Amino acid sequence: MPGGLVSALPSFALLHPHQLAPSTYPYSYPCNTYHRSPPPDPAVLQRLFEQGLMGIETSADHGGALAKVDPSVSVLCDVHNTLVNTVLGSFCLSESASGSDAFALQTRAVPSADGSFYTLNGSKIVDLAKGYKGITCFIVPKELDVKVAKKEEKLGIRASSTCTLNFDDVKVPAENVLGRVGKGYKIAIEILNEGRIGIAAQMLGLAQGAFDTVVPYTFERKQFSQPIGTFQGMQHQMTKAAIDIETVRLLTYNAARRKEEGLDFTKEAAMAKYHASQAAMSAIEWAGGVGFTRETGIEKYWRDSKVGAIYEGTSNIQFQTIAKFIQKQYS
Ligand SMILES: Cc1cc2nc3c(=O)[nH]c(=O)nc-3n(C[C@H](O)[C@H](O)[C@H](O)COP(=O)(O)OP(=O)(O)OC[C@H]3O[C@@H](n4cnc5c(N)ncnc54)[C@H](O)[C@@H]3O)c2cc1C
Repeated sequence: MPGGLVSALPSFALLHPHQLAPSTYPYSYPCNTYHRSPPPDPAVLQRLFEQGLMGIETSADHGGALAKVDPSVSVLCDVHNTLVNTVLGSFCLSESASGSDAFALQTRAVPSADGSFYTLNGSKIVDLAKGYKGITCFIVPKELDVKVAKKEEKLGIRASSTCTLNFDDVKVPAENVLGRVGKGYKIAIEILNEGRIGIAAQMLGLAQGAFDTVVPYTFERKQFSQPIGTFQGMQHQMTKAAIDIETVRLLTYNAARRKEEGLDFTKEAAMAKYHASQAAMSAIEWAGGVGFTRETGIEKYWRDSKVGAIYEGTSNIQFQTIAKFIQKQYS
């Protein structure tokens, strides 16, 4: 990656909405349909590729935050940035019975007699008899008859598709094994750890976007003959939120710095991701009833923020990760 410290941050953390080509920016808004999740607009994907935002190595020159505008678009870039260049990819680890317990996978890969291909059934790969050592990662092109099944209707980030993928007797050439057979656990855990910095950055952008949208309103809206933003009760809440956002920024940059320097960053990424998932929660209330209506888009920030405490490991799982490091250090 070019650049210094900040280059380790996922690209969307560095983009300012005004620096995005207009063709990407406005497209995120029509995706905010409430009653039915629309398919992602192909034009958005096209523009993201054209602007170099969908590669593993994204220029650090952008600066700013894509998530300030629409976290659905930023998560699309984020997941993609950890995986592939030039083509569209997805990270398939979770299964219906394997979420927080991410490696209790039930998908099977059976090698052919001559070892030239594997037959996949389910979603992902593990030989439970071998525990984590039975997990293998595969690169599976969609053309190999992977079925995109149920598309979920979601509370937030509705413009990003979350789907079940079915692998029914999908035959994958042996050369499509990513890394080595039985070493998939390490690959997946590394992607998850790195991904937490990305989600922290996404939630940071979202929190900053919500703050930048709502705070000016508090100085326009008057109650009891004065701007609501000048009441001490409001000022204290907004001050705390400003501190939280700055804390998240530092936690996120610190985790990214450690990763870039080759230091362990697992604990720091978990801390950043946990704290970031909390940062955008209160802004909706500062706008009162207006914040609760769909007119202003303020409630969208709140809905989009909820997933920050769930995917890439729930907050409890972040706590568990951090606690392991504390125990190791002090016991
Ligand atoms: C919008 C969205 C997009 C997603 N995208 C992807 C993707 O691209 N690829 C992918 O592989 N997965 C993806 N996921 C799956 C996501 O990673 C899981 O939803 C997440 O890890 C939680 O797993 P779960 O839903 O099975 O919840 P569960 O594991 O069932 O957790 C339910 C509750 O139990 C708690 N819990 C579970 N275990 C413990 C424990 N040991 N200690 C304390 N509390 C515990 C959790 O904290 C949570 O509160 C996505 C999910 C969402 C919502």
